[in-house]
Amino acid sequence: MIGIRDFKVSIGRTGGWRLAACAAISLAAAATAYGKEYESGIKWVEPKIIESGAKCGDAPSDAIILFDGKDLSKWEGAEKWEIKDGYVIPHGHDIKTKDSFGDCQLHVEWATPSTVSGSGQGRGNSGVYLMEKYEVQVLDSYENKTYFDGQAGSIYKQKPPMVNCCRKPGEWQSYDIIFNAPKFGEGGRLVKPGYVTVLQNGVLVQNHTELLGSTFYDQPPHYEPGPPKGKLELQFHHNQVRFRNIWIREIPEPPVATEHASK
Ligand code: MG
Repeated sequence: MIGIRDFKVSIGRTGGWRLAACAAISLAAAATAYGKEYESGIKWVEPKIIESGAKCGDAPSDAIILFDGKDLSKWEGAEKWEIKDGYVIPHGHDIKTKDSFGDCQLHVEWATPSTVSGSGQGRGNSGVYLMEKYEVQVLDSYENKTYFDGQAGSIYKQKPPMVNCCRKPGEWQSYDIIFNAPKFGEGGRLVKPGYVTVLQNGVLVQNHTELLGSTFYDQPPHYEPGPPKGKLELQFHHNQVRFRNIWIREIPEPPVATEHASK
């Protein structure tokens, strides 16, 4: 069937009255076929205009750049971390951002050592901690078996990734993480759990996964009530993991309607 758009294009190109008449008849027929256009009547506020990054993985204009390959001034405790050739290598202990974040979109690029040593949890281990409590595991999981809820892309000791899409040791990989922070009410009562979505190298590995609480090595997960925001943390785990191109966006408020048109 020829659609309304096809006829509009056709009229514009030829301009002939016969064709226009034909188009009018056909438009009427199409309108009958499609029915009256649905309009919600909601008057939305125009979404804010921002600039996307120039290429995939680049920060958009409203992102906070946490590490651009040159300095770690947005972090605390990073004195021993080694910046080199546009990336940074963990040394000494974990580092935390100076600012705190709640609901956010986070981009992190990482690579495990190209020279393989160790196995299981001892091979290319680091981690991205949301609010200092919820670890998205970083690990060399390329032909390196460990417990599944501790491999790369897992929510540590809570949920394995849906697939293992790890690249080879030494190759750069990315995490794009969407985090909805847990909400606590009076007396520290959990009102709403946290949720984490993770894309590793563009592949969905965690899909709105419900957090069961803080991630621990030596305890079952449980929530530790606290403020609505917390610092982002990168783990030092005695492995020469590299990080680069780290940026974060606080998730904007959802679109709002200014009014409902009367019907
Ligand atoms: Mg780790």
